[in-house]
Amino acid sequence: MLVVMKHSASAQEIRDVVDMIQEMGYEARPIPGRQRTSVGLIGNDGQVEPTLFQSLPGVLEVIPVSHSYKQVSREWKEESTVVTLPNGTNIGGNEVVLMAGPCAVEGEEMILDLAQTLSRMGATILRGGAFKPRTSPYSFQGLGVKGLQYLAKAREETGMAIVTEVLDVETAEAVAEYADILQVGARNMQNYPLLRKVGNIKKPILLKRGLSATIEELLLAAEYVIAEGNPNVILCERGVRSFDTQTRNLLDLTAIPVVKSLSHLPIIADPSHGTGVRAKVTPMARAAVAAGADGLMVEVHADPNHALSDGAQSLYPDQFQELLDQIRVIARAIHRAMTPPLAHQAGFE
Ligand code: PEP
Ligand code: MN
Repeated sequence: MLVVMKHSASAQEIRDVVDMIQEMGYEARPIPGRQRTSVGLIGNDGQVEPTLFQSLPGVLEVIPVSHSYKQVSREWKEESTVVTLPNGTNIGGNEVVLMAGPCAVEGEEMILDLAQTLSRMGATILRGGAFKPRTSPYSFQGLGVKGLQYLAKAREETGMAIVTEVLDVETAEAVAEYADILQVGARNMQNYPLLRKVGNIKKPILLKRGLSATIEELLLAAEYVIAEGNPNVILCERGVRSFDTQTRNLLDLTAIPVVKSLSHLPIIADPSHGTGVRAKVTPMARAAVAAGADGLMVEVHADPNHALSDGAQSLYPDQFQELLDQIRVIARAIHRAMTPPLAHQAGFE
């Protein structure tokens, strides 16, 4: 349930609502907005009598929250959430953001060179797995902490923010020391201890849709993170299992407008894992931006044929440049802009 305060409500009137919720044994979450503050009530199993609040001074209205995901819903918070990174990149506002990089960090020189190339092209977030969730236990599992250190060096050299995967509760703190965004991968979308853990680490979370997860399950997974007190969640549509084997997954672009109407959280698309096929990445990236995605996560590799993971779906750098040029036009057509390149890349340094 949400208690919406009047524009003119005083701080004391808001506090009175918070006190009353707490006296009833529930948790109160004040949500300041541009127009007015709301106070969310959490911890109730059944319906709470709305008339108890309706007559309090300063209360405009009481809205029951109908979805099982509460704090993630647009009923709870009407304004879109914008996640701001330390390098100034905003995710969830008017700008379309680009996260690009290899599937896995394979070495120091490899990631530093690629980071230079990608940031010069205009990407502001560098992706790269250091702890890799591989389907086969015999495949390359990532460089671990060394990989994180190389990513941090790439950030120092380029100013790009770093997004990298957190595989389990045990290594979460170590990854958080280096990353600007913690990625929870598709295979971990319903790993509830991990979701609670990252909810307690106050860094933005990129939550990827599970291999066969419904949109509601994705939103409920995000609710776990927010319920722990971390509001900075970015959702990612990365394709779901389908009966068709032409592509690795079925990139469900319907999820983008559906999530946008149900939730205030940003959602980006990952056309690399969504298709698994290099030639299909750019067309689906274009479609994702047209569908309203707040950004893209794209795998790029200087030498995809020798990549240690996901080479078949990795773009060559010049293909990424082409993708970017095309996306810029589409963004403009729907009254959005691309995230501006990092200041020193634009020659302001
Ligand atoms: C990845 O981003 O490299 C990855 C493993 O993604 P997903 O969890 O979507 O498969
Ligand atoms: Mn990958």
